[in-house]
Amino acid sequence: MASIYIHFPFCKSRCIYCDFFSTTFLGLRSRYVEALKKELEMQCGYLSSSQVKTLYFGGGTPSQMDIGMLSEVMDCVYSHFDVSPDAEITMECNPDDLSDEYLCALRTRLPVNRLSLGVQTFDDGRLSFLRRRHSASGAIEALRRCRAHGYDNLSIDLIYGFPGQSLDEWEADIDRAIDLGVEHLSAYSLMYEEGTALYDMLSSGAVEEVDEEVSVSMYELLLKKLTAAGYRHYEISNFCKPGFHSRHNSGYWDGSHYLGIGAGAHSYNGKSREWNECSIELYLAGILEGKNGYRGSEMLDDRTRFNEMLMISLRTSSGVNLTRLERQFGQEMKILLLSKAAPYIDRGQLEVDRYVPIDTVKPTADEALRLTRGAVFTSNGIISDLFL
Ligand code: SF4
Repeated sequence: MASIYIHFPFCKSRCIYCDFFSTTFLGLRSRYVEALKKELEMQCGYLSSSQVKTLYFGGGTPSQMDIGMLSEVMDCVYSHFDVSPDAEITMECNPDDLSDEYLCALRTRLPVNRLSLGVQTFDDGRLSFLRRRHSASGAIEALRRCRAHGYDNLSIDLIYGFPGQSLDEWEADIDRAIDLGVEHLSAYSLMYEEGTALYDMLSSGAVEEVDEEVSVSMYELLLKKLTAAGYRHYEISNFCKPGFHSRHNSGYWDGSHYLGIGAGAHSYNGKSREWNECSIELYLAGILEGKNGYRGSEMLDDRTRFNEMLMISLRTSSGVNLTRLERQFGQEMKILLLSKAAPYIDRGQLEVDRYVPIDTVKPTADEALRLTRGAVFTSNGIISDLFL
């Protein structure tokens, strides 16, 4: 399986918590689309002849692009790559952009079949604290419109752990998401990333981080309520109704090859990793004017690939496929991993069992090492202890 990710680094305004790479200078969009098309053409051999099973328009805010621009990029993907007829094609959207007109054009002109909406919370006060553009009712209306236009695979992002947020308030957000019947939900605790306005507010004492205990209780509540509502907890921050896991993200967790197009995008072909500079100017100059330096690369040695595979796989409900790991890295590495894991297995934080792929509930003949449910809260420490 192979995937393509295309980055659209444009936002109408910046949210106070965000450290993603994006700009509010929308005037560059047309040139950027030209560069995306040229890069797609330049990288048409990167995935060898693998069929593209997932395509992801991420950002920034892809829904800040005109439908005509998105359509040009999409056509270019289809003309240079073999895209599977049943490919999962996701687009990230801001609820505020999803007017009837926009959705109608999107539905008619692009084969997008999965929308991911940055809802974040259903509390208007907190939305304005984050400086999001939409209101709670706006997000609910946008989801309703997506349904009306035939989108039956909807994902939303939620944030918890706001300063002063109570468990009851968080529960109200979860209940609202469940009532809306979204197929997929990603939930993250509010992060204070250096360089963001939110980080400065924390540093100056204008806001206080929520207690770690409260944050853990919020995560536990999320797990309990979503599981009871029929969602599968298939990755630390991700939940889905059966059959609606993100096939694109699962590809990253599975070690599949992917091509990243656009400023700041990363690619992986099994041996090396490449990345484009997080600068629109450098990216445009590199692609459109043939100047060097927009793309870097590194060969991945076994140790790096092993550690990355551990870090990514152990975050999923499937865990590490030990049978595949042995095939890929040899029996010695498997024995070494299990010896490092032994104390955690004894304490009931890790377990060895049959491997169950994310897209099914049926165990395979392969063996897996995975976190037990109670260990999910301390996963970072456990995973880094297993590194080579
Ligand atoms: S959170 Fe999304 S919409 Fe807000 S600034 Fe970041 S990328 Fe843009």
